[in-house]
Amino acid sequence: MALLEIKNLQVRVEEREILHGLTLTIDAGKVHAIMGPNGSGKSTLSHVIAGKPGYEVTGGEILFKGEDLLAMAPDERAAKGVFLAFQYPVEIPGVATMTFLRTALNAQRKARGEEEYSTPDFLRKVREISKSLSIPQDMLKRGVNVGFSGGEKKRNEVLQMALFQPSLCILDEMDSGLDIDALRIAADGVNALRSPERSMIVITHYQRLLNYIVPDVVHVMSKGRVVKSGGKELALELEASGYAQFEDAA
Ligand code: ADP
Ligand code: MG
Ligand code: MG
Repeated sequence: MALLEIKNLQVRVEEREILHGLTLTIDAGKVHAIMGPNGSGKSTLSHVIAGKPGYEVTGGEILFKGEDLLAMAPDERAAKGVFLAFQYPVEIPGVATMTFLRTALNAQRKARGEEEYSTPDFLRKVREISKSLSIPQDMLKRGVNVGFSGGEKKRNEVLQMALFQPSLCILDEMDSGLDIDALRIAADGVNALRSPERSMIVITHYQRLLNYIVPDVVHVMSKGRVVKSGGKELALELEASGYAQFEDAA
């Protein structure tokens, strides 16, 4: 069954068309990788799904759980279970990470008609998850992402995912800037969140990440379209033969 259905999506940024009729189906409970060269539109696609401002959808549709996603405001999408981990996470000085997590989580639970966590329940949950991600408690007292290393930012995002329990996680180049140890910790955290209740879109330029987060399905993007889909072996094929073969097809 499809969790997300994107049909013939056309998107413009500042008068320039970036996605030219992109069609993609994400299955419920599966991990889909999206690979493609720099500039193929991977981040644009993830931003449009999350509802980031600045993108003009000029054609096509996106259905999430059968509902018109493009008609929803970004916070509504988040409340419905869409989570995007940005390629470049924003810093929020002056807001302690713990406070941010609690506020965001309770806002989401409220929007879903669920009860807010009590302070002890919230703290217990955060401690349990941060321990499994080797996140030191003092990191949670610092401003959101302020002075965090690349690895700490990614772990903070995996912590958010584990707290919010989204039904769709989009990870945009989570391997960028991570050394192998940091990558392993973040990937283990992501793998622990794999579930029949959750789909993931793992965006990456390099095959390496997919050794750690092994996808069920692989898609190749080129010049604003999905040009090929296949099983996990497609990632290895790409590693061997490169993206150039798709440039003409796009
Ligand atoms: P990828 O994530 O695959 O590297 P992007 O989605 O970041 O690709 O970019 C796709 C294309 O859209 C690129 O040509 C990029 O220059 C262009 N683009 C992306 N964001 C903007 C923007 N805010 N303004 C103008 N052009 C943009
Ligand atoms: Mg890029
Ligand atoms: Mg990108």
